[in-house]
Amino acid sequence: MGETALHDLSFALLDWYDRHARAMPWRVPPADRKAGVAPDPYAIWLSEVMLQQTTVAAVRDYHRKFTALWPSVRDLAAADDAAVMAAWAGLGYYARARNLLKCARVVVAEHGGTFPRNHATLLTLPGIGPYTAAAIGAIAFDAPETVVDGNVERVMARMFDIHTPLPAAKPELTGRARALTPQHRAGDYAQAVMDLGATICTPRNPACGICPWHAPCAARIAGTATDLPRKTPKKKTPTRYGIAYVARRADGAVLLETRPESGLLGGMLGWPCSDWADDPAPAPPINADWIAVEAQARHTFTHFHLHLQIMLAQVPLDAQPDRGHFIAKQDFSPAALPTAMRKVYDLVADLMQSD
Ligand code: SF4
Repeated sequence: MGETALHDLSFALLDWYDRHARAMPWRVPPADRKAGVAPDPYAIWLSEVMLQQTTVAAVRDYHRKFTALWPSVRDLAAADDAAVMAAWAGLGYYARARNLLKCARVVVAEHGGTFPRNHATLLTLPGIGPYTAAAIGAIAFDAPETVVDGNVERVMARMFDIHTPLPAAKPELTGRARALTPQHRAGDYAQAVMDLGATICTPRNPACGICPWHAPCAARIAGTATDLPRKTPKKKTPTRYGIAYVARRADGAVLLETRPESGLLGGMLGWPCSDWADDPAPAPPINADWIAVEAQARHTFTHFHLHLQIMLAQVPLDAQPDRGHFIAKQDFSPAALPTAMRKVYDLVADLMQSD
């Protein structure tokens, strides 16, 4: 495809974006952008970190909450760690929240509270990999960076009818995306391809009839759109098992444990647990008459499913745990627990209050 044809494709997509851009709390609409309104790099960075492994629909409210609590990177850098972790609960992987805080603090300490524009410098910040650096560069600073996520891969595979399965197809799809990235309005363009993938060129039912790339799209012409992109079959997600111990003291206090810094839910408060393994050994945190709860808490992390058997015990006021510490009833907030641990609480909340 020649340069003029590529330019025409970018132009057609930007023209579509001018009319159909999705509204997002962090996004500057194309008309405002043309009028000179610049995006807030802090808001863009926050959205990109939140969007790693989470959908736009889920991120909207979290983004509003974070920017209301901490309107600038300086506010976030000065925030209490536990408050940020609690606000993050439900967004998954806490390593991302910890990196979010680290990054905010580095931006304040080493960059005067201003996000760097340079791609290589962005890459030195905690939690920012090549994709996020490209997205911040394009969306916040209008740099002609090529931003390739799953939506963009799908659109490129279809537009150019590429049948090589993912992930082997990534270099080719990235090359196609790069060739299409315009020098002018690169930020709007990056968001336009993502919007096209999210709203028109969707995985199952692409709406080719109203697509700005309807005429030139090779997969539409070949009738292969819904087969693309091809993927190398995934291995089945394994299941790990664990035992969560919920101990309630006579005064209503509950026994919680800070999880080790390294590992899943690192540094978060949760119910004391056994290992998460194929066949975990019991590891009660306190000597008590443990009763098995019938329901299991189930949670899926990126690489495995977790099934937690729940053991419940009432313990006396002078009970001394081997590990963990009691949290007074009035200080215990189930909402602050990470999702897997909150699911455990949801299953035993009635039992805990019934006596
Ligand atoms: S014409 Fe259809 S398959 Fe091609 S890019 Fe548009 S929505 Fe996707």
